[in-house]
Amino acid sequence: MPKKIPMRQCVGCREMKPKRELIRVVRSPEGELSLDFRGKKPGRGAYVCPKPECLKRARKSNALGRAFSLKIPEEVYEALEQQMEQQREVHVYEL
Ligand SMILES: [Zn+2]
Repeated sequence: MPKKIPMRQCVGCREMKPKRELIRVVRSPEGELSLDFRGKKPGRGAYVCPKPECLKRARKSNALGRAFSLKIPEEVYEALEQQMEQQREVHVYEL
């Protein structure tokens, strides 16, 4: 039997993609927002393609804010974009 691939929707382009091809944005129980490249951090997650364009679209449509029921400050988006470009987790934000 073929293994079922978990699919998630990108908050930017809204396409369904295999979970492992997406980057998880996670809000920790402490209220910090960060990128989770390994998909292992605890907390509420939203998924986005590893492309700055998708993050920009999510920013325009406030899709991320709606996913977390939060108003996300501009600087958080900027930091997430930076993290994505550098493919590493550098900052963590408290909201
Ligand atoms: Zn996307």
